[in-house]
Amino acid sequence: MAADFADEEFVREDANDFDVIIVGAGLTGLTCAYNILQKKTGLSVLIIEENNEVGGRILPKAFSETYHANFLQEHITDLIKTMDLNIDRRKIIDMRKRILCTNYRPSQNLPKYYGAEVYSFLQMMEKEAIALKLSTNTMHNEIEHLAETSVEELLRKIVYFSFARSLCRAYICSACAMRNLNDISVLWLLSVLNGALGLFNRLRIMFGDNNRYFIQGGVTKIAHKLLKNILRFYGKIRYAEVVNEIKFNDDRVYVLTEKNHFRCELVVIAVPPPMHNRIIIKPSSQCLLNTQILYIPSKNVFFNVAYKNLHWNDNSIKDVVTTWDSNSNLNIVYDVTRSNSERFMLSGFLAEPDSTQTNRKGLFNTLNQCFETIDTSKYLQYKEYNHFSNDQMKGGSPMSVMMPTSINSYINYMGTTFERIFFASSEYATNWPGTIDGAIEVGKMTAYSILYRIRPQVLTSHEIASLKFEGARQIEPVPFKICAIQYLGLMLNVTVFLSFMKTAYIST
Ligand SMILES: Cc1cc2nc3c(=O)[nH]c(=O)nc-3n(C[C@H](O)[C@H](O)[C@H](O)COP(=O)(O)OP(=O)(O)OC[C@H]3O[C@@H](n4cnc5c(N)ncnc54)[C@H](O)[C@@H]3O)c2cc1C
Repeated sequence: MAADFADEEFVREDANDFDVIIVGAGLTGLTCAYNILQKKTGLSVLIIEENNEVGGRILPKAFSETYHANFLQEHITDLIKTMDLNIDRRKIIDMRKRILCTNYRPSQNLPKYYGAEVYSFLQMMEKEAIALKLSTNTMHNEIEHLAETSVEELLRKIVYFSFARSLCRAYICSACAMRNLNDISVLWLLSVLNGALGLFNRLRIMFGDNNRYFIQGGVTKIAHKLLKNILRFYGKIRYAEVVNEIKFNDDRVYVLTEKNHFRCELVVIAVPPPMHNRIIIKPSSQCLLNTQILYIPSKNVFFNVAYKNLHWNDNSIKDVVTTWDSNSNLNIVYDVTRSNSERFMLSGFLAEPDSTQTNRKGLFNTLNQCFETIDTSKYLQYKEYNHFSNDQMKGGSPMSVMMPTSINSYINYMGTTFERIFFASSEYATNWPGTIDGAIEVGKMTAYSILYRIRPQVLTSHEIASLKFEGARQIEPVPFKICAIQYLGLMLNVTVFLSFMKTAYIST
């Protein structure tokens, strides 16, 4: 695999020679650099960042103050303890309602047969996701099929009523901030849900429960604290440089930007897919090329809205999920009110990148209908981040998802190296991909993998045990069959399902 090219132009500049180069100063890249450097092994680390500041998808303070984490997420929770950062809890409010906004009329009471179908689908996803076993065992026909099937296809096959399908879609979309389920592979979704120990846990993180918390000063605080420590441990960072090519041979890796040529022992591409496709890798391989094109970013507009009072009817805080065929541009709204705050805050994602005005009007129409009021547009402050006016990945896309593809393209990048190259991004996390916890997990694990390779003596046995040395993951078979008896049983459980969801159904 080694490249055979003359490197005279690189060999000259010793100041540009490092042990490790990390491309990208998002949370993943920063955590990786921090975890390598804090071992004080004398390794030289350089971060190269395209922007003029660190943080990547963490938006500026005003937005990142509503980014939330959950005590279920161990990596972020541990890091904020280590870094002595302060947190605020979510405000505990007596009345908390989850609203599913649909185009169904009249829909105050969901007919039982719809409930049964939705319940059976969600329960099946829950069960199969938890049962999913990731291993390096042999491939299996059913697994291959799951990899190639989209979630939309699966829904069409096993959920009969189109309205029930629409409800199922809404929950799945909320679990991965993605609108179009044709773009999501069933196998990928199951492994994301497996990391969360099930669909309902993943939804709990997205909507929030009483374990939700916020970082005082916003998530940018973590990025800045990591950077401060990186610089204290003599790590280096270059801003406003875009890495566009990476070459390697048996001895070194060569990292090329427009302005500079750098050399190193190992390189980490801490850039999310599909953004890392912009970096040409030489020599490449068919396997790498296949997997590089498989991710697509979700397209969202992020917004925060602050209210003085809960001035809607029943004075309860509400999370809203809309079905994608409900003629609403609202994807998901969740409550991000802090325990010590005078203001009530909602955050969420709009699906359509129309003009700001259209987005706003559509949003408040939907909220008025959901909250049974005419007052949701009487806000104190409304802020919107439309990433379509910027770069594709910089604002609105919390995560990229993996499209249906051949099982051979299922590579778990975390801990897997491509010669001297490591790929790292929140998307590859085991438990909470697409979240700040996922970024911290991947950053830390990549750092351990690197240290294992070049300074194994500094790792504790616990850190070594946390590494997963797997290549492409193949997955045990998970049959998707619901027999008639199960179905009848599920019908009887509709009432349980409805109370579990605590959902009121309203029309738009
Ligand atoms: C609007 C929004 C709201 C969110 N809310 C939450 C939330 O409430 N809770 C939560 O847990 N998560 C949330 N997330 C997700 C979370 O922010 C991300 O999962 C996490 O920040 C991803 O970090 P990363 O380092 O993996 O990727 P990124 O942050 O995307 O970092 C990649 C970095 O690489 C740089 N880069 C890219 N290409 C190159 C190149 N060729 N050369 C040099 N540099 C390059 C980029 O500029 C960027 O700085 C949200 C995301 C968004 C967008």
